[in-house]
This record gives sequence, structure tokens and C-alpha cells, in this order.
Amino acid sequence: NLGDLRCIGCGAKIQTTDPTELGYTPQSALEKGLESNELYCQRCFRLRHYNEIAPVSLSDDDFLRLLGQIRDDDALIVYVVDIFDFNGSIIPGLHRFVGSNPVLLVGNKEDLLPRSLRRSKLRDWLRQQANLAGLRPIDTILVSAKKNHQIDHLLGLIDKYRQGRDVYFVGVTNVGKSTLINQIIKQRTGIKELITTSRFPGTTLDRIEIPLDDGQKLIDTPGIIHQHQMAHVLSAKDLKYVSPQKEIKPRTYQLDPGQTIFMGGVARFDYLAGPHTGISAYFDNNLPLHRTKLINADRFYEKHNGELLTPPMKDELSDFPPLERQAFHLTEKSDVVFEGLGWITVPAGTAVAAWVPKGVSSLVRRAMI
Ligand code: GDP
Repeated sequence: NLGDLRCIGCGAKIQTTDPTELGYTPQSALEKGLESNELYCQRCFRLRHYNEIAPVSLSDDDFLRLLGQIRDDDALIVYVVDIFDFNGSIIPGLHRFVGSNPVLLVGNKEDLLPRSLRRSKLRDWLRQQANLAGLRPIDTILVSAKKNHQIDHLLGLIDKYRQGRDVYFVGVTNVGKSTLINQIIKQRTGIKELITTSRFPGTTLDRIEIPLDDGQKLIDTPGIIHQHQMAHVLSAKDLKYVSPQKEIKPRTYQLDPGQTIFMGGVARFDYLAGPHTGISAYFDNNLPLHRTKLINADRFYEKHNGELLTPPMKDELSDFPPLERQAFHLTEKSDVVFEGLGWITVPAGTAVAAWVPKGVSSLVRRAMI
């Protein structure tokens, strides 16, 4: 009985049964972890070990001081995630540097999800995913910083929960934290574009403070970089595929086992086993998808990558990492997530494989839609 053992990296409940689920730890690692009092789930262990996720220049004294300050301050933490890339928005060890401060979870970019998806359902899903990641937010809200959706409501919630305290905004790069703060500034003071927004991860380096009426302040923190997110393997001009700007139109396919779908040349999905079935793909509308036979897929990729299958472009191929495969058996309706790029919703009772560039993760989660 593992009781309430949690990973000290991400806070997920430790389990030893399902390698595809959060908190998975091999039995041997569990024993070692308990002995040394450093219990990480396999995912966090790898991240730590290979240094795949690191805050902006962790060696930087200012940054560490800032994190320490959040823990020691009596504050409200506004944790901004990208609802289109929830898994890539998770900050490992967040619970360690928020200390006992309350966390308000903000799911940004809700404009990207189909309008037909009920927002209350989406919020429940987000809350559940946050719980799985070891987080117990006091409240959860969906916004679109870009479209100015629900920003008033967010400001209302911040006022309700901060109770005279400072407010820290935290988030990994590219979730839209700068855009959100710009909206807030615009709403409060009429100053536009005070902070530069950018598609390039890691550009929000300064600490920015916005004074509040009662002498407290909103504090923007540097975006934490996921060093191996999809954005890092794409060239500047291909970054648009990981920051979609318009509502995603799901693309559906009727598939038989033995069929493959390529997402440009950056990712690949194999349908290995199960019935003739419908699947839905959620990616940037401009990312070209190609269906082919699984037995021809390797050859197809070799022949067409950089041409029919783009991004990447032909001249980028030499820098592009090879695709790596991970297989999943799905016992419930699930999203097969290509981290930072999108996902494919697949019914229960199927076996699939996801291919992503070396260093980027693929995973499965409960279906969002
Ligand atoms: P930061 O690194 O977290 O500060 O992110 P930015 O504010 O620089 O935004 C990163 C990318 O996401 C930019 O391309 C923004 O245009 C885009 N973005 C930000 N907010 C939204 C939103 O609400 N909806 C959509 N669709 N895109 C957004």
C-alpha cells in the first residue's frame, strides 16, 4: 500500500502499476527513493537526470531568490497554463516553491478549443488533470488572453482570493503569460504593450511589478523553459504550428489497424490494433496530415520528409532529431498527446504508437473531448 506517497518533483501520487500514467515509479526505484528520501516518479527522475526541464538559468541567483521569495511571501499564486498544451505547461516541483500559498489555476488559450465543447466540462477536465499532477487549486478559470475572454472575471477572482496579499504570476514559457499580463495592464491602466510578447520561448526575463490600489502588487516571474518542448526542435518560422492562432478544427479519420498518420514530418501516429474506428486529430489547422499504410510508413517518411511532409523544411532536415516511438494500450477513451503539438483522441480497446522527435514527450491522458 503506497498510501499518499507523492513525487517530490511533480507532486503526483506514486504508483507502480501503469507506466503510461502520472506518478509511475518502477518498484526498484521506489525502494531506492524511499531509502534516500528522494522519491521521484520516473518522468521527473528522467527530467532531472537528463536535465530536460530547467528554469531559466537555474544558476542565476536572482531567479533562485525569486522562487524563495514566493515561498516565503504570503501571496496568491496565479498559475497560468496553456489549455492546448496542458502537459507541457506543468512546472515540476511547483508545489515546493508555492509553499502553503493558495494557487489559482488559469487555463489560457481557451479560444483554440472547439466552441461546441462545453466550458464547464473543460474546466472539470482541467481541474482533474491538475489534481493528477498533485495540485489542489482553490479555483480554476478558463480565459483567452488574446481575445480578452474572461479577463474581468479573472481579475474578480484575484481580488477575491488575494485578500490584501501580493499576487505572483507563474508559468512555463509560451503559455501566454505576457499576453495575459498585457491585457490586465491594458484593462487597469490603459497602457498597451508594456511587456514584449514573443513566440520565442524564454524572452520574458525581467521581473515586472504592477502596483495594486492597496499598495500590494502583481508580480510577473520569468517563464520557466521546458528545454525539450516541441518549440525547441522547430525553426523560428515553424513555431506557428505550436502556437496556433485560430480555433482548432478537429480532423477525423476512419481507421483500420495497420494505418499511419503523419503530422507533417514532426510526429507520427500508428494504429496498431483494435476495430475499424473513428479518431479525431487536434492540431494547428495548417499542419498538414497524411494518411498512409503502416508497412510503408518508414519508407514514406524517408522519401517525403521535408517535402510532402512539412514542417520541417528540406534545408532543416540535417538539424532535425529522429522520431522515436512509444506504444500505448488504451483501456479508456484517451488522448494520445504529442507534447506541444496537439493530440489524437482514440477510443478504448485499441493499441497505438506515437512518434515524436527525440527529446520531446508523448503520453496518454483521459480524453478532453
Ligand atoms: P509567455 O512566454 O508565456 O509570456 O507567452 P506569450 O504571451 O509571449 O505568448 C506566446 C504565444 O501564445 C504567442 O504566439 C501568443 O500570441 C500566443 N497566445 C497568448 N495568449 C493566447 C490566447 O489566449 N489564445 C491564443 N490562441 N494564443 C495566445
